Amino acid sequence: MIRWSPEQQAMKDALREFVGKSLEPHRVELESGEMPPYEILRDMYRKFGLDEIARERFARAMSGTSRPAGPRRRDPDEVAMVLLPMIELSRCSPGMITALGVSANLASGAIMKGGTPEQKERWALDLLTLDKIGAWALTEAGSGSDAFGGMLSSARQDGDEFVLNGSKTFITNGPYADTIVFICRLQTDAPEPRDRPIVTFVLESGMPGLDQSKPLRKMGMHSSPTGELFLHDVRVTTDHLLGGPASLERALAPRSLTSPSERNSEAKGTFASERASIAASALGIIERCLELSVEYARTRVQFGHPIGEYQLIQDKLARMEVARLNVSNLIFHYIESLVEGVGVTFAEASAMKLYSARAAVEVAMEAVQVYGGNGYMSEYPLEQLARDARVLQIYAGTDEMQIRGIAKALLAP
Ligand SMILES: Cc1cc2nc3c(=O)[nH]c(=O)nc-3n(C[C@H](O)[C@H](O)[C@H](O)COP(=O)(O)OP(=O)(O)OC[C@H]3O[C@@H](n4cnc5c(N)ncnc54)[C@H](O)[C@@H]3O)c2cc1C
Repeated sequence: MIRWSPEQQAMKDALREFVGKSLEPHRVELESGEMPPYEILRDMYRKFGLDEIARERFARAMSGTSRPAGPRRRDPDEVAMVLLPMIELSRCSPGMITALGVSANLASGAIMKGGTPEQKERWALDLLTLDKIGAWALTEAGSGSDAFGGMLSSARQDGDEFVLNGSKTFITNGPYADTIVFICRLQTDAPEPRDRPIVTFVLESGMPGLDQSKPLRKMGMHSSPTGELFLHDVRVTTDHLLGGPASLERALAPRSLTSPSERNSEAKGTFASERASIAASALGIIERCLELSVEYARTRVQFGHPIGEYQLIQDKLARMEVARLNVSNLIFHYIESLVEGVGVTFAEASAMKLYSARAAVEVAMEAVQVYGGNGYMSEYPLEQLARDARVLQIYAGTDEMQIRGIAKALLAP
């Protein structure tokens, strides 16, 4: 795949029109945090039939017909339908995609991968259709890049129940989530917390002992609410334990029975698709910054000439175009590898994220420069896009963690 098919391009155009009509007029409220992003996202889901597609995919997954033996080949349009909204919404308000992705991909994906059929019916379907909003809670104040190693949140078994305690921070959708995927350590006899097994629970907003903070103030991505979660003796029954009793048995099995690669493969699968999808957000930001910069370079006159006639400005535009082509090609490569049923490796997904996030930040900052003082003013969209882009290098694993993962794969014996 080297370009969008005519049908995919038509969908891209229709999404752009939707952004212009339904999102752009609310950009100020969304970016001030005054308006949560969910109603616009639901509107998009209904208008483009994405809720219906999600229902159909869910039904296929539940009937087991979606996974024939052998490599799982994906339909290119199905993959494009996930990535195109990411690209198009990110042109205007990338935070919308963070909020959407965490709910409809990360939280629901964790339940679809690890949940029992009952748990999928109970929680995942509503997240996939956006009828409910999900959060995925891993990070804690003391554990970010070393998310599993430094984790302190805990689950203590008490008869048929578990008692959950701890706090999570920087949680996308945390303030508004109806359904929360909460990752913690099971309390066992192991003296070192690091050696205690990781377990996951699905929580519902309003449970006694669960507090969801107000949105935190931050540098950008204001249309994506980020918050803290506090758990104080939250009591849940085994039906909230992701995977049910079988997952508890697996967690308690002697470590020698499961290889580290088996233990990590599920989390890595989730991280790989999250990292690859960040490239789609990066592309939206790059495309918009490039278009705005070209327009400005044509029309802004200084020293009697449009600034686009100056080589220093041309250099910036040319570099932006190179970034656009490279990130587009990474996305096409990603789609193609899913279509072939191969997928990208974890290290490849990390490389995609690393390159795209850096490219988006560089392009957005250079676009601000092309606009001069206007670029620094909130009246123009570049100021917001530059702030928004910055987090692509931090969340879903920092640049340094991507580099670490890529190098580890390269140096593996
Ligand atoms: C807007 C936003 C939304 C988020 N949403 C979610 C969410 O929905 N759910 C969730 O669970 N988390 C979420 N996060 C958390 C995010 O994943 C973490 O912030 C990220 O993984 C980095 O962790 P940290 O902030 O603790 O930084 P730290 O891990 O403390 O890192 C600080 C610095 O040290 C570097 N560093 C750390 N270890 C090493 C090393 N071994 N070698 C070299 N350098 C190193 C890092 O790269 C970084 O530069 C979100 C964060 C933000 C900002």
